Amino acid sequence: PVRVRFAPSPTGPLHAGGVRTALYNYLFARQQGGQMLLRIEDTDQNRYVPGAEAYILEALQWLGIEIDEGPQNGGPHAPYRQSERKEMYRQYAEKLIADGKAYYAFDTAEELDAMRKRLEEAKVAAIQYNAITRLEMKNSLTLSPEETKSRLESGEPYVIRMKIMPKEDIRFNDLIRGWVVVHSSQIDDKVLLKSDGMPTYHLANIVDDHLMGITHVIRGEEWLPSAPLHVLLYRYLGWESTMPQFAHLPLLLKPDGNGKLSKRDADLGGFPIFPLQWTDPVTGDVARGFREEGYSPEATANFLALLGWNAGTEQEIFSMDEMIKAFSFDRVHKAGARFDIQKANWFNQQYLKFKDDAAIVAEIKPLYAAKGIEVNDEQVIQIVHLLKDRVHFTKEIVSESEFLFSAPEVYDQDVAVKKWNEEAVNAISGFKETLEGFEGDFVADNIKHALADKMEASGIKMGKIMQALRLAVTGAGAGPDLMVIMEILGKQEVISRLTQALD
Ligand code: GLU
Repeated sequence: PVRVRFAPSPTGPLHAGGVRTALYNYLFARQQGGQMLLRIEDTDQNRYVPGAEAYILEALQWLGIEIDEGPQNGGPHAPYRQSERKEMYRQYAEKLIADGKAYYAFDTAEELDAMRKRLEEAKVAAIQYNAITRLEMKNSLTLSPEETKSRLESGEPYVIRMKIMPKEDIRFNDLIRGWVVVHSSQIDDKVLLKSDGMPTYHLANIVDDHLMGITHVIRGEEWLPSAPLHVLLYRYLGWESTMPQFAHLPLLLKPDGNGKLSKRDADLGGFPIFPLQWTDPVTGDVARGFREEGYSPEATANFLALLGWNAGTEQEIFSMDEMIKAFSFDRVHKAGARFDIQKANWFNQQYLKFKDDAAIVAEIKPLYAAKGIEVNDEQVIQIVHLLKDRVHFTKEIVSESEFLFSAPEVYDQDVAVKKWNEEAVNAISGFKETLEGFEGDFVADNIKHALADKMEASGIKMGKIMQALRLAVTGAGAGPDLMVIMEILGKQEVISRLTQALD
């Protein structure tokens, strides 16, 4: 069975790229009837940020990404936090040493610096701890077995490094990129176990993917350079036959396509790149979130899924179930995807159009209340229908409808100059008289007929006075259906606004 994992490091808020990685993992797992794991990669204690794990869980939940096994719901391979698995990793590093695939290294920070300086001065292309440089450093390959043993016994700090064999081609077939070939001279003797006894990302990641039965590693392109090392680790550990398949997802680019989207773009462009709002625990800085900005989780997931993937059809609006059915690695692009927030706004608008009234009413009634505006459900529904197609966010329905709750204080002067003439004034006073004698249901159609009849009787073309009428009722020269606006306002309010405008 397919088993995939999302393996974030809790070093801060999850950003759009991370969410998309989680989403693709989830889509693929569900499509294949497999499992989705969440593993918290917290071996780097210096970069640990309190609150980040809780944030990740909340963000995944908000987006509808369900986790089958993970730190909160457990599973057969618990624990799912690497810091709680610490003891498991060392044995694999030691096994590699026993098999001649890794070694102890005792170099101090100063010695490593000196080595790097020497290489720099000699203008060596790749500054690496590798097959050549390791010969002049202090490690169990250059020291005698006795010396190594006594250093270990005396408690001298050491790391365990992987012994990369020279002159080897490492190849693997990436599900998105095809064959990737890297020569082992490009890779240095990476540290697997640090002097504090903690595994590095590379060791912990491979050991856990193996033990947890991961079949597909789906992650961001920034991990592509690590993949050859990982392939070698599987080989050295004797796990090559069950090595997962790799899929490295395209980068997310800045809106203008110039470079990688970064955390700083969140505030530069004035748009969110995080799913939820994030407050930096140290600086107190607040970065905006899709949720708080008013994007629906469905629209957000749909937007992110289409950054780097399409179904090969014209279809853009996908429910989670539809994405699960349609997803395929064949249609994930290699090139980076531009993060265009206008597109996210468009998705949000599309979802808003189809959202049912009750849900919108529930969402916006508190927003009216916060502005001290009293509305009943029936009015809210009318307002929603009036404005739904004109806005991107529910909150805009509230701000765009304020004119319904107070008579205009100012009138658009540009429109007034052009349209407020004698004919318009006569037409509007005539219409006001009609309304004063109006009987029956004060609904849009009836209002329209009453207006049309009156204008016809007075020999005035409707088209010539409509903007002036709108100006009188709303103060603006453009907006949603004026007949519906008048219906919502009610007869008395319309008459009073006309009176005020004619004054
Ligand atoms: N902990 C890594 C990260 O933060 C995981 C990379 C991977 O999926 O292998 O993204």
